Amino acid sequence: MNKILKIRVDSNLCIGAAPCISTAPEVFKLDEENKAVMKIKGRDKGVNRAERKELAADAVSDDILTAAAQSCPVKAIFLYDENENQIYP
Ligand code: SF4
Repeated sequence: MNKILKIRVDSNLCIGAAPCISTAPEVFKLDEENKAVMKIKGRDKGVNRAERKELAADAVSDDILTAAAQSCPVKAIFLYDENENQIYP
């Protein structure tokens, strides 16, 4: 069962180090400014479960999402549960 309902990247924190992308390339990519964004057109503020489905990111387990967030050296990836509680960091 998926516990992570929402993912958000803070582009002000992101330094484009990119381990999140190598960990979860289905979810993250770098934009033209070398900031990590979610792979959803026009939305880089967050992604909910419906959007995860759109992304086929339900194929991306919470473990991988957590590993991607943990791989970020500046902790720019925020994970939230269904009650909008921050799970990480
Ligand atoms: S790991 Fe962190 S700093 Fe690196 S691209 Fe991803 S969000 Fe940005």
